Amino acid sequence: MTEVVVCGAGGFIGGHLIADLRREGRFTLRAVDVKPMDEWFQVFDDVDNRVLDLSERDACREAVAGSRYIFNLAADMGGMGFIEANKALCMLSVLINTHLLLAAREEGVERYFFASSACVYAAEKQTSTDVQALREEDAYPAMPEDGYGWEKLFSERMCRHFTEDFGFATRIARYHNVYGPNGTYDGGREKAPAAICRKVIEAKLSGNHQIEIWGDGEQTRSFMFVDDCIYGSRMLMDSDVTEPINIGSHQLVTINELVSIVEEIAGVRLERNYNLDAPQGVRGRNSDNTLINERLGWEPAITLEDGLEKTYAWIYDAMVESASGRTLTRA
Ligand code: NAD
Repeated sequence: MTEVVVCGAGGFIGGHLIADLRREGRFTLRAVDVKPMDEWFQVFDDVDNRVLDLSERDACREAVAGSRYIFNLAADMGGMGFIEANKALCMLSVLINTHLLLAAREEGVERYFFASSACVYAAEKQTSTDVQALREEDAYPAMPEDGYGWEKLFSERMCRHFTEDFGFATRIARYHNVYGPNGTYDGGREKAPAAICRKVIEAKLSGNHQIEIWGDGEQTRSFMFVDDCIYGSRMLMDSDVTEPINIGSHQLVTINELVSIVEEIAGVRLERNYNLDAPQGVRGRNSDNTLINERLGWEPAITLEDGLEKTYAWIYDAMVESASGRTLTRA
């Protein structure tokens, strides 16, 4: 019997989750992703690895067969550059969650986890850099991020109604900007921390000490290191919390401050060029962690400085390896 299935396991967070569950050695695991396996960030030979397109219902049936717990981390997504230019693709992820829920219910799965996002929060509450951290109830009245955020909010509600109408147990995490090693850092889907690490490394290696920053750099965000994300997700899955809950850091920084931290790690100072036409997302966003503290007695605590140090080191090695023409060993 497969106890745990991780959907989207070839991706960034899914890869870390499989690695974490496997380390404990007490689960039989299945890892599922649509990407060819040589593109997965982390692959383990002792896991039941399957390449399946989870937007198809039959593929979802195969993915969940004989399992007890499902983590749905599969989505067609990326950073702000990707989600602003690919709203239809982002919304099509609704097929993944819908077919997975149906298949999981049919299979008699015990518990189902959905990775939602801070992009569900109403845009009007995120217009200033001087933010009021977002509480879970701020998702309504709804006006989320166009495309990606609407899909997440709809899928959250689908989970909720499966629970209310069918007694099917679901858990919903609203992740706030997750970063770390073994994730996308180039190609257009990367998010701000990885993109900035890459740009700083490019500048350092090329000797051209300049960096392009999207917007004026004064937009604010919080960023959560992936280890905190995995710890919180597993704690939520094991808990009795059935309503959507923030899993995010509350260490608020501007993008300019994020660049300064990476410069410090790299030991360089760069000339900053601001691209005011580039996608920037909301003006300011932070995670209010009152609910997670109340319900789980915990909140993400790894500092941005510590997390970025590890992320920078991984991206640096990956870039150097790939530039030297060797095969990139990702795990
Ligand atoms: P990721 O893009 O690295 O991983 C998602 C994985 O899903 C990819 O490997 C992709 O190939 C797979 N996938 C896409 N379509 C699929 C399909 N039809 N069938 C099977 N697999 C498919 O992204 P991530 O950063 O690891 O994010 C994981 C989840 O967390 C996603 O649902 C994402 O929306 C959510 N999330 C992430 C962040 C973040 O900052 N990384 C923030 C909020 C929410």
